[in-house]
Amino acid sequence: MLQQMITACPLDCWDGCSVIATVEEGRVTALSGNPAHPITRGFLCDKTTRYPQRAYSPGRILYPMRRRAGDERHCSEAFERITWEEALGLAARTIRETVAQCGSRAILHFQGSGSMGLLKKLSLRFFNLLGGVTEPSGDICFGAGTAAMEHSFGEQAAHSPEDILNSKLVVLWGRDPFTSNSHLLPFLREARRRGAALVSINPRRLDRSRLFDRQLQPVPGHDVFLALALLREFIEREWCDGPFLSGCTAGWEEFAAFARQRSTAEWLAPSGIGHGDFTHLAALYHQKRPAAIWIGSGLQHHLLGVETVAAIGALAAAAGSVPGGGLSFYPRHRQRFDMSWITPHPAARNRVVPEGDFWRHLPALDPPIRMAWINGINPVRTLPDSNAVAECLGSLPFVAAVDFHWTDTVLAADLVLPHVSFLEESGPVSSYGHNYVAWQQAVAERVGEARTDLEIFQALAERLGFGEKMQGSEREWTERLLAPLFQDAGLRDKFFREGFIENPLLARVPFHNRVFSTADGKFRFPAPFAADPARLPKPATEFPLRLVCCKSRRHLNSQQEIAGEPLCYDVRLHPRTAAIEQLTENCMVHVISPMGRIPARLELDDSVREDMALMPVSGSRARGTSLNLLIPAVMAGGGSCPAYNAAFVRLEPVQ
Ligand code: SF4
Repeated sequence: MLQQMITACPLDCWDGCSVIATVEEGRVTALSGNPAHPITRGFLCDKTTRYPQRAYSPGRILYPMRRRAGDERHCSEAFERITWEEALGLAARTIRETVAQCGSRAILHFQGSGSMGLLKKLSLRFFNLLGGVTEPSGDICFGAGTAAMEHSFGEQAAHSPEDILNSKLVVLWGRDPFTSNSHLLPFLREARRRGAALVSINPRRLDRSRLFDRQLQPVPGHDVFLALALLREFIEREWCDGPFLSGCTAGWEEFAAFARQRSTAEWLAPSGIGHGDFTHLAALYHQKRPAAIWIGSGLQHHLLGVETVAAIGALAAAAGSVPGGGLSFYPRHRQRFDMSWITPHPAARNRVVPEGDFWRHLPALDPPIRMAWINGINPVRTLPDSNAVAECLGSLPFVAAVDFHWTDTVLAADLVLPHVSFLEESGPVSSYGHNYVAWQQAVAERVGEARTDLEIFQALAERLGFGEKMQGSEREWTERLLAPLFQDAGLRDKFFREGFIENPLLARVPFHNRVFSTADGKFRFPAPFAADPARLPKPATEFPLRLVCCKSRRHLNSQQEIAGEPLCYDVRLHPRTAAIEQLTENCMVHVISPMGRIPARLELDDSVREDMALMPVSGSRARGTSLNLLIPAVMAGGGSCPAYNAAFVRLEPVQ
């Protein structure tokens, strides 16, 4: 029988879509966007419409697997099938012995955003109940921006996409809705139809559809100088919002003095933006009110990542655009949920290591790490310096990985536990691009012997003696965690019946009363920082191109292992740059950094700057195609966020 059921997409993406699944005999045959959802508006991206291929791929892990004794190969043949009873017994025994011999902090729990489902966070409850373990701190995607926003605004925040329609100017700064965040496009188009000006600031020109009035292409990693030049221009022309600055902010005089240390032209020069584009943008940002800035993640992945977001925030505040169109990063739903279920113990019992280069910090730990539990992330592939991460995992006495495909990380594990696809589990999903919370409902029958993270932790808790503290169905845990939203019983019913609600505890316009989430309620300007372009590495003769990583329209992060995917990916180069290097369209090249080389197919693309090579986050270490084989583990200055876009490369034709 054919059925249509509402669920939600929990992939690591801004859009948090509500999804209609077509289900036949327990299998999903198609996915489409829920037309009733105000943001999804009836369409999905290519990643999720293709998701059934991934869910029913022959490459899926179907059973618990254990590495054969002495077999160190990084391939699935190194593993043998075992029963769940054996797998859980082995995991529980290893946990018990580790805790007895070295204490619970000798366990490294590494969890990522492979699913944005809120129930994934119950793993933290499990490990807290165990006594507290070692966990990564910060955030490899947004850590730098979070550090800057939390300092100035007191929390990360974003306007609801609906508020874009109230803006006369929308600046997308390092945010590409054509590749990810495609559900912002209808709002941008509507804003433009109503007369708003749209500007993109991105090293890549985003589209040829004339959506934008201007597209500025700064030198990758040099956006901070553009922001400071704009701020300096506002000071010079006396365009700053005096009443807001004196009544609602702290630290303005000091930061303004810092901005005055250089002229507008001096700040602007390193950014690579021309005078005409600059003066046009400055005038627009002054005249068009409300003016909104929406930032993305890529502009944080540089050595001055924190400073970049801090300077953009300072500009928005000085210009009086906060709240106004504001500065949008991402809304903090989770601060409005009942997270006491997840962090029941004082944080002091946990130990943290920075996420971006966790492997570097393990040798100094006492007690040392004796086992790792990895779920919802593929750190070998996702973190810079893939080889260092793999070597670190290989040096640990025991690694358990939970996943549903044979990723590089799974191949480095000792015990592999099969996880369900998102079509086979339930729980709430909050978006980091809008204010809606959706109900991800299991719509398909399980494949193989796959289980959910929650079921795995519940079974382990039973074996470890605290089973009753983890008990509860997916629905019961959803009700517990969303209790603050469900004060209104009508909203609770609507959530489960219609598949989503707008979070009533999040404002569509954050800080609309000009009170911020800082200790004194004021916007806090950043402390002056070392903004010296000489601090930033420059291209050299041997490695003349800036490597910029971008998202792909076809897969998310490392989730590309679908049959039929290319064995290597495209590198985009400006035609003039390719001509200098005598490289031609579609030729196979090696992309080479001081770290190593990977193969790629050359695509000529005049939308990228001439000093950069653009590649999607992609590849696999096992196949020698992982982009992170080229990228060193250098951090962006805060939030444990790697400076993914700070590497330099050259291209050579494959002989
Ligand atoms: S990946 Fe993002 S845009 Fe695509 S369906 Fe999921 S939430 Fe929507």
